[in-house]
Amino acid sequence: MPTFVLTLRDEPDALARVISLCHRRNYAIADLSWSRTHTPGIRRLTLSLSEGRQIAHNLRKLEDVMSVEPQDGVGAGVRHLATPHDRNDPIRFPLHGVVRRPGGLLMAQIRYDSDADLDLIRCKRVAILGYGSQGHAHARNLAESGVNVIVGLQPTSASRARAEQAGLAVASVAEAVRQSQVVMMLVPDTRQAEVYEAHVAPHLEPGDTLMFAHGFNIRYRTIQPPDHIDVSMVAPKGPGHRVRETYVDGGGVPCLIAVHQDASGQADAQALAYASAIGGGRAGVLTTTFQEETETDLFGEQAVLCGGASELVKAGFETLVEAGYQPEIAYFECLHELKLIVDLMYRGGLNYMRYSISDTAEYGDYVSGPRVIDEGVRARMKDILGEIQSGAFAKRWIAEHQAGRPQFEATRSRESEQPIEQVGRSLRRMMPFVDPVE
Ligand code: NDP
Ligand code: MG
Repeated sequence: MPTFVLTLRDEPDALARVISLCHRRNYAIADLSWSRTHTPGIRRLTLSLSEGRQIAHNLRKLEDVMSVEPQDGVGAGVRHLATPHDRNDPIRFPLHGVVRRPGGLLMAQIRYDSDADLDLIRCKRVAILGYGSQGHAHARNLAESGVNVIVGLQPTSASRARAEQAGLAVASVAEAVRQSQVVMMLVPDTRQAEVYEAHVAPHLEPGDTLMFAHGFNIRYRTIQPPDHIDVSMVAPKGPGHRVRETYVDGGGVPCLIAVHQDASGQADAQALAYASAIGGGRAGVLTTTFQEETETDLFGEQAVLCGGASELVKAGFETLVEAGYQPEIAYFECLHELKLIVDLMYRGGLNYMRYSISDTAEYGDYVSGPRVIDEGVRARMKDILGEIQSGAFAKRWIAEHQAGRPQFEATRSRESEQPIEQVGRSLRRMMPFVDPVE
């Protein structure tokens, strides 16, 4: 029986128009449910018809109909991300990342709990090195999935008490590695090479597995493990507190997995079991490589998420202030409201954001966006990607870190006193609802 899930604007005649279309086409309605969503003004309609799959096309043309998703296999491959916040949302997220490769489009491989054999990780002792954002989430989720976990920390670590309170075994890094067969490296990326040399490498045995949640140190060879061990990655696509929160709630955060070295022949299956044990298999586990994960991650944060977005906000703010507008107004327009726009993109892509804004804003988006992000910007994005691919960026950052980060610290203090920061600090005090931290 063809079933469709529609999202509709909550207008008086919206439902009547759908029913009338079905009647006009002589499709009997077998079942119908009309429900609220989290979004005011938007409702969800689940509609089962006796026949007539073709009707989706006509439904989409109706006034007030925002989306039509065929169910029962027609929409296979489109899975809903089970997170506490969007479980009931009307927007569906296609979880299949599509990766463009020379010669065409390639679908990312996605696996779930049913593809994983949890015993492959339950039969090992797993050392979690570090108990920060990722460390606490991995350690607690693994333990609750029946895995034997030991947390490795520095003797002076303030996190020791928290880990023990959570009922976890804690030891020095070296001792945790000695007692384990699987070692997950969850100390900060810039500390990993020294921790590896001093406390991990001397205690690795043939058949052990060394794991990462980000590929930097393997990709740029600051860690070079011996041939006789497996080296793999499980990288949750979310911060640690979310990895923990979703797990407790019965869901999970999608994970990337990759294998750098497969001495045992089981590196991939074991990494999948690990991803499943931290909850990733409930959402979806995408296969990647250390190279792809590292390079795309660095590019994303530099060009778009951190570097690109910060400079775009600053440039917009400064343009308005220099033209004589009030800094407070400029702050709202260029920084504060960015969250509202990004929230829409997060839920339904650029289409949903553009659907939600006014026509005037949408027209301005089309005519002015490409003038701001023009060919010159795209060419410089390619340069930045080139420096990531060649290792030039990594070399520069490692040298800066080793020299005590003089440039990094100087830029950090200069940036923290930008006019936009000063204006923002006082405006955020007026808005306790944004949960201001400064
Ligand atoms: P955090 O900074 O949150 O935590 C680091 C932990 O490592 C802390 O517990 C810290 O100890 C410990 N630590 C620091 N130095 C040492 C040392 N020399 N010896 C032993 N322990 C040490 O790191 P993250 O969880 O953010 O990052 C861990 C890894 O996860 C990185 O590879 C990162 O790229 C990756 N990742 C992070 C994501 C995120 O959202 N944060 C997302 C996906 C991947 P103490 O508690 O004593 O301070
Ligand atoms: Mg060991």
